[in-house]
Amino acid sequence: MAVEAEIEGVKGEAAAVLPRARRAVLAMPEYHPPLAGRDALRLDFNENTFAASPKVIERLRQVTAEGLTKYPEREGVERIAAAHFGLQANQVLLTNGVDEAIHLVCAAFLEEDDEAIICTPTFFMYEVSVRMMTAHLTRVQADETLEFPFERFLRAITPETKVILVASPNNPTGAVVSREQLLAICAAAPQAVVMVDEAYYHFFGETVMGDVGRVPNLLVARTFSKAYGLANLRIGLLAGNAELMKYVRKVSSPYNVNGVALDCLPVALADEAYVAWYADQVRVGLARMMDGLRALGVEFFPSHANFVLMKIGPKHAELVKAMRARGVLLRDRSTDPGCDGYVRITIGVEEHVTRGLAALRESLNEIRWTEKG
Ligand code: PMP
Repeated sequence: MAVEAEIEGVKGEAAAVLPRARRAVLAMPEYHPPLAGRDALRLDFNENTFAASPKVIERLRQVTAEGLTKYPEREGVERIAAAHFGLQANQVLLTNGVDEAIHLVCAAFLEEDDEAIICTPTFFMYEVSVRMMTAHLTRVQADETLEFPFERFLRAITPETKVILVASPNNPTGAVVSREQLLAICAAAPQAVVMVDEAYYHFFGETVMGDVGRVPNLLVARTFSKAYGLANLRIGLLAGNAELMKYVRKVSSPYNVNGVALDCLPVALADEAYVAWYADQVRVGLARMMDGLRALGVEFFPSHANFVLMKIGPKHAELVKAMRARGVLLRDRSTDPGCDGYVRITIGVEEHVTRGLAALRESLNEIRWTEKG
């Protein structure tokens, strides 16, 4: 009865004449990450698998009831974050995760006739945010090596190119783009904003943050969701030329980052020992995982991030299911362009890598996986 009433209600709603969303909104893809039922070992979303710094937790305990009543103040923390990166406050914007930074860059710079360029496979939110503004998205597909297709990427630049989004290390491959290549892309497209997404910087160690300001069209994004373990607080940072950042700031809400996240950020940034420890756990775990995969005969893409893309073949979904039954979540990347049969596993702290590897060994055995697939 209740269901019938609900269907009636929906029907009634659909019958009304409603305003249409913009054409770009009707046409854009949706991102539905498989977030349900994640009460298990999370080797599926590349988050920190363990914890944020104990100092951040200490700071969280100081949150008061009165504190929650206040609108957040971003500016003071922005100054601290800018100083941490050796930048001026007007070169930095704190965002609601890098997801929002991507969105704001597209909103600030893309007209509907403009073009944007990404490589594929890559982080799907690029496509979502670009297509919200323009239908003209050029995807430069990696070949079967899954390396960044640098030469073809350069050739894809046109006078209409306005936004270029590149993740280094890339997700889901773990492939990197060298500083020389990134600067060559910036130089080849002076009319375009080039956003380098360094979400996985701590696991790689190379950065173009030092080129911010000096290279006028370069923007650099960093997240606090990965090494820092603050995915649930939703905080990221975008840095770039102050003139460009003025426009990005203009399209952002003044309260885009909540005050609890702002309280925690300076503490998280100051506790460099914690992030260094976590990155080290991942470095050691990554080497163990790659050795383990070689021993199991599983092909993989050599990664520079906190995850490994494994080539499983036709049994990819069976593997993910068998792993879930053992309490370990993986991410099936088979529907990513050029990734048919690929499954991604996140690298976490030592114990989580041990559990992940043991579950992999058992699951591959159970599904009778062989090196032929
Ligand atoms: N960029 C890349 C390349 C990512 O893989 C992710 C997370 N999956 C993000 C950005 C999103 O980061 P945040 O949590 O800061 O929105």
